[in-house]
Amino acid sequence: MLLLLIPAVAIAVLLGVNLGWQWVLAPLLAAVLLRWSIASLRVLVTDAKHLEGEAGGPAPVGADERTLFWCEECGTEVLLLIRGTSRAPSHCGQRMHERTEIRN
Ligand SMILES: [Zn+2]
Repeated sequence: MLLLLIPAVAIAVLLGVNLGWQWVLAPLLAAVLLRWSIASLRVLVTDAKHLEGEAGGPAPVGADERTLFWCEECGTEVLLLIRGTSRAPSHCGQRMHERTEIRN
């Protein structure tokens, strides 16, 4: 990697001095932006795969228990009727806490 970097820097300096630094900085900026956007998309894809891998589809919550999600930040409580995934929903920018009550 370092052996490739030395001639690349030499070519970049040569281009920058002779043609102007915009010919060096613009492609460099484009490469950084491209790598960043591809990395962001990869995160989205792996997140979706994680959801796909879970067994079974949406399942109704059993009648003998009651599952609530509560938000630590604002105190909102949400009653779960059908469980789609095992992940807790988000509120106020963070995951909600799960609380399961057994009904008598
Ligand atoms: Zn909240």
